[in-house]
This record gives sequence, structure tokens and C-alpha cells, in this order.
Amino acid sequence: MENLIQRAAEDLIKARYRIALTGAGISTESGIPDFRGPSGVWTRNPEAERRAYRSYERFLENPKGWWEERLTASSLLGDLEKAIPNSGHYALADLEKMGILQCVITQNVDGLHEKAGNEYVLEYHGSVLKLRCTSCTTRFKRDEFDLQRLMRENQLPPHCPKCKGIVKTDGVAFGEPIPHDVAQQSLEEARKCDLMLICGTSAVVYPFASLPEMAKPSAIIIEINAEPTPLTGRTSDYLIQGKTGEILPRIVERLKKIQ
Ligand code: NAD
Repeated sequence: MENLIQRAAEDLIKARYRIALTGAGISTESGIPDFRGPSGVWTRNPEAERRAYRSYERFLENPKGWWEERLTASSLLGDLEKAIPNSGHYALADLEKMGILQCVITQNVDGLHEKAGNEYVLEYHGSVLKLRCTSCTTRFKRDEFDLQRLMRENQLPPHCPKCKGIVKTDGVAFGEPIPHDVAQQSLEEARKCDLMLICGTSAVVYPFASLPEMAKPSAIIIEINAEPTPLTGRTSDYLIQGKTGEILPRIVERLKKIQ
């Protein structure tokens, strides 16, 4: 493990443009369950997974009913607005402040990278703390709409004040296309980087999981994950196996000693 931490620190220093890809695993130490880890939401409740796969279809069929369900049912991931970043998120924010990390592309919908202080964050699967117009992709803070009042007054779904399109949560549902702007920027970042640090993802959700392949021809790919993934031994150069909340701060410490 020590050797790999040293190797990662040296690779980070040598690279010119480094980006991080993150998944639900980086937020488990903030008390937010992942989906496919040993105690993940899907692992424990496969029926919830089947329902989630139909979510976008249900939204298209009946946006009003979809919103009513959203506003009355409890979230599978708990109250994300109250979640706070952990040492893994803070380590990535430190790397950005040190000028080491140029961008974070996250699958997470919890907003914790921004809360930790990272400034350039691409939310590939959106954010549950924001809403998005499905026509013009304008994003809104959740509290820009009084959703409970709209429900009481039978005025759901919310409509975009700019183009009158239907508004949904910004979080990308299964089967929903990745918003064009973030998909394009992420692709550009993956092609530009010469080091990719992949943290806490099972790397099975596409198209996100294709970003390492895009980077591979010219980039060093380092995985930090609790368990091996389909990238391990094929796309990634090496895996540092363990918790992101422990390993990332150790890499930052090592870098500070080297620099
Ligand atoms: P996943 O659940 O498929 O995989 C998480 C991976 O992280 C697993 O391999 C697990 O072993 C590993 N892991 C768990 N805790 C870890 C830790 N402390 N340190 C290192 N590794 C750890 O997650 P995914 O690949 O991100 O795909 C799930 C999808 O669901 C994503 O698209 C995401 O949008 C969504 N999701 C988001 C959140 C969130 O925003 N926090 C939480 C759950 C799911």
C-alpha cells in the first residue's frame, strides 16, 4: 500500500493535466449508501433497482404523477441536503487548491464536491439539489420553485420560466440521456488529461464508464476503490484498494512532502 501511495504521488506530480472521476463510493463515508457495494441500496433491495430503471419512462408518461411521488416518498439515499463532505472529498479539494487537480467529474448527485471546496466540478448525473428544464437545460436551485405549493394547488409539474418546458430534478434518471453540455465537457476533459484518478465507482454505469477508455491512450489511470472493478487490470494501470477517505488524504500528505 505505501508503495502505491508513493507511486500515485509521483505520477500526479509528473503529469500535466490531471482529473478525478468519482462515484458513490467516495460518499459512503459521509453516510450516503452506494448502490452496488456490499451494503448498497440495490444489493439489499433488488426490487428498488427494478423500479429505478423505470423512473424516466414514468416521468415521460406522467410528469405530474412522477413529481407527486417524488415529493411524498422518502429518498432512497436519505436527506442529501444535510450530508457533509468527508476526508476523501476534502483531499480532492486540497489537490485542486495545490494546483494538482484540474477537474472533478462525478457521478454523484449529492453536491459534496462543491461543498468541500472544489470549483471545477462536472456533475455527470446532475444533482438532486438542483432542478433542470428538460427543454432548454437551464438549471435552477431547488428553492427557486415552491414545489409543495405547486403540489397543493395541483400545478405540477413545474414549468421553466424561460421556455415553458417541463422541469424535473437535475439528477439524471436511468434511461435519461446525459445532458448534452456536461456530456460534451466531460468527454473533452477525458481526452485532454494525462492522468485520471478514479475514486469509488464500480465503473459499470454507461456512458460514464467509457470515460476511462477515452483517456486511456495517453493517460495514466489510477483506481482507488474498496474492491476491484471491470477496469482493474485492463483499463487502469493500478488499483489502490481501500477507502477513499483514508487513501486520498495519504496521497495529499505524501505530495506535500515531495513538493
Ligand atoms: P456503485 O454503487 O455502483 O459503486 C460504488 C463502488 O464504490 C463499489 O465498487 C464499492 O465497493 C466502492 N466503495 C464503497 N465505499 C467505498 C469507500 N469508502 N472507498 C472506496 N470505495 C468504496 O456506484 P457508482 O459506480 O457511482 O454508480 C452508482 C450510480 O448511482 C451513479 O450513477 C450515481 O449517480 C448514483 N448514486 C449516487 C450517490 C451519491 O450521489 N452519493 C449514491 C448512490 C448512487
